[in-house]
Amino acid sequence: MAVPKRRNTSSKRNTRRANHDKVTAPNIVPCPNCSAPMVSHRVCPACGHYKGKAVGKAPAAEEK
Ligand SMILES: [Zn+2]
Repeated sequence: MAVPKRRNTSSKRNTRRANHDKVTAPNIVPCPNCSAPMVSHRVCPACGHYKGKAVGKAPAAEEK
């Protein structure tokens, strides 16, 4: 079985552990269709558009 050649410093060990389950904030961008804030790469919750097209549940105003 492989054995570590050198002991890691406490700094090295702590840096490794610190990045394990870091939470990052979702990327919020204005919707290109209705300019409401939305998470990028998701269907807009306000107008139901994705990449310039109406997808799935659009609120009453824009029924196909
Ligand atoms: Zn929108």
